[in-house]
Amino acid sequence: MMRLKGEVAIVTGASRGIGRAVALALARDGADVIVNYSSSVKEAEKVAEEIRELGRRSIMIKADVSDQAAVEKMVSEVVKQFRKIDVLVNNAGMAVVGPSEELEENLWRRGIDTMLTGTFFCSQAVGKEMIKQKSGKIINIASINGIVAFPERACYCSAKAGVMALTKVLACEWARYNINVNAVAPGYVETDLVANLATKGTLDVHELVGRTPNGRLAECEDVADAVVFLASEDSKHILGQTVVIDGGWTAYGYLESWLRDAKSC
Ligand code: NAP
Repeated sequence: MMRLKGEVAIVTGASRGIGRAVALALARDGADVIVNYSSSVKEAEKVAEEIRELGRRSIMIKADVSDQAAVEKMVSEVVKQFRKIDVLVNNAGMAVVGPSEELEENLWRRGIDTMLTGTFFCSQAVGKEMIKQKSGKIINIASINGIVAFPERACYCSAKAGVMALTKVLACEWARYNINVNAVAPGYVETDLVANLATKGTLDVHELVGRTPNGRLAECEDVADAVVFLASEDSKHILGQTVVIDGGWTAYGYLESWLRDAKSC
């Protein structure tokens, strides 16, 4: 059964990785999808094409989510062409990793601007339309980095913790308009973002897997499935929550060696 038949969804940062998987999953469940991106035009066009092949409408719109004017322009273009917006997924993000004592101002600002301010600008612009419609679903992509501390990720952890707080505020404020605002917090997911950090030596995938109770990184589809649930009527009484998708990472607090031994049983 298609849970989102006839609905219109915007996914920010949908050219690659989690955003791409979310856009395709929403389309498979019946939604027309707007593919937002910032620079990867060819990848974005490919995603929009894949969505059209599923029988849905799709356009791509270039907009830097940290640029309020660009976001407002994107939203009015969507309303002009599609007449409504049922679902917004705030996914655009970037990795910011480095020792806190050396983190440069421009990187700190870029990370916060993209992940926290961008989520606010998109929610605000789309929220105005959803308030008029008296319906809507907003799903923010946070991270387990917003819940537990990862060294050398001061900007990233702060941005994602901010996204989780913003999720609660908007959920409470806009509940009266029948708008559900929720978030998902993935652990490490197999994407370009993770592959690039692994290539730079900033993280060790083997060690990450060893620290995860179910013994694997998430796939983009694990995140997409939860987003579709939060976009659907199946989640209508869930507001202001962050669904953690981490294979047990944040639940686990014991020695890595115990997990290793358990896996060899
Ligand atoms: P990714 O593969 O690096 O893709 C990032 C996406 O965001 C791209 O589509 C990129 O567009 C877009 N983007 C970046 N800055 C933007 C901006 N200013 N305006 C509009 N779009 C922008 O990342 P990912 O791994 O799929 O991550 C997606 C989200 O999940 C992020 O919020 C990330 O923090 C979160 N997350 C990821 C993981 C993980 O392990 N990968 C874990 C937890 C949470 P272009 O292609 O056009 O540059």
